[in-house]
Amino acid sequence: MEKSDIKNLHIEEIEEVMTKNGFPKFRGAQVFRWIYKDVKSFEEMKNLPNNIIKFLEEHFYIGRAILIDKQKSKDGTEKYLLGLYDKNAVECVLMEYKHGYSICISSQVGCRMQCSFCASTEGGLVRNLTSGEMIEEVMATERESGVKISNIVIMGIGEPFDNYDEVMKFLRIINHKEGINIGMRHITISTSGLVPKIYSFADENLQCNLAVSLHSAIDEVRSRLMPINKKYNIDELMKACDYYIDKTNRRITFEYALINKVNDSKDDAKALVKLLKGKLCHINLIPVNQVPGKEYMRSEHNRIEDFKKIVENSGIQVTLRRELGTDIQGACGQLRKNYFIEESKRI
Ligand code: SAH
Repeated sequence: MEKSDIKNLHIEEIEEVMTKNGFPKFRGAQVFRWIYKDVKSFEEMKNLPNNIIKFLEEHFYIGRAILIDKQKSKDGTEKYLLGLYDKNAVECVLMEYKHGYSICISSQVGCRMQCSFCASTEGGLVRNLTSGEMIEEVMATERESGVKISNIVIMGIGEPFDNYDEVMKFLRIINHKEGINIGMRHITISTSGLVPKIYSFADENLQCNLAVSLHSAIDEVRSRLMPINKKYNIDELMKACDYYIDKTNRRITFEYALINKVNDSKDDAKALVKLLKGKLCHINLIPVNQVPGKEYMRSEHNRIEDFKKIVENSGIQVTLRRELGTDIQGACGQLRKNYFIEESKRI
């Protein structure tokens, strides 16, 4: 029988494994706690009897990433390229902020959204990540960097709502008080706008933050930038966002990458204001990061300023995002895999 990654199991599931195999239920919680103390092997789970350790070794492994590459930016941001068990790899980025360390994790190997300005989409979707692999992105990065991560953004490679169930499971495991215990309010999911999943997410009743990649308030422009807009247009997207806000009473962050002379005119800004005025929201402007092979250029300084002013004057909250890790291709939309795996480097 093939072994499976125990990091994919929530505490209740480990308890169930225990009881189904004739072991006491409380052993499940003990195993769960050990996993998040970051033990490498079941043998290290000191308060477990040998028969349980043997049973676990026969059926499970404790998933650990291979560190393929680590790059450090001048601004302190670090990019990690992590190898999985099937020779695929994912990237995540560690950033330092005033309030602590934040990690940007990937949710899929590749992506099928095909946004025209994004590097992660080249090569399409390879596969979804498991919840355990996403957890290991956080744990491997903590292990390697020696820092405690306090915030998570699911904004790396992939569309989290295209891997909805595993991402929801990831949230619940990482949030568990016996495990890594990162508060839902410290986690943000970013979606390109998978409308049915925005409704589902609203109904989950979590305190997790939602960001929506908008990038244009005009259907024709948005469809050119983000093919998903042909399936769910801006009107449908806004209805889903309104439902989310109504249901959760939580603010949505709309992400808007400013691309020179594509979506950054005064008319674009006015359309954005018209679309979002009165909503419980916040706009995050990001000068687009240039990706090799893509023709898009970041907006000129005065166009960024004019755009921002129009939004600000409307009373909508807006920030211009600080760019981190641009020199290591660690900034938004720059992540892509290009690597060589050595099994010996599993950490
Ligand atoms: N698929 C999800 C999350 C991953 S992308 C989503 O689309 O939201 C994270 C953010 O980076 C999104 O807002 C995305 O539109 C943005 N992004 C992608 N490429 C970019 C680039 N070249 N410059 C700036 N932002 C980019």
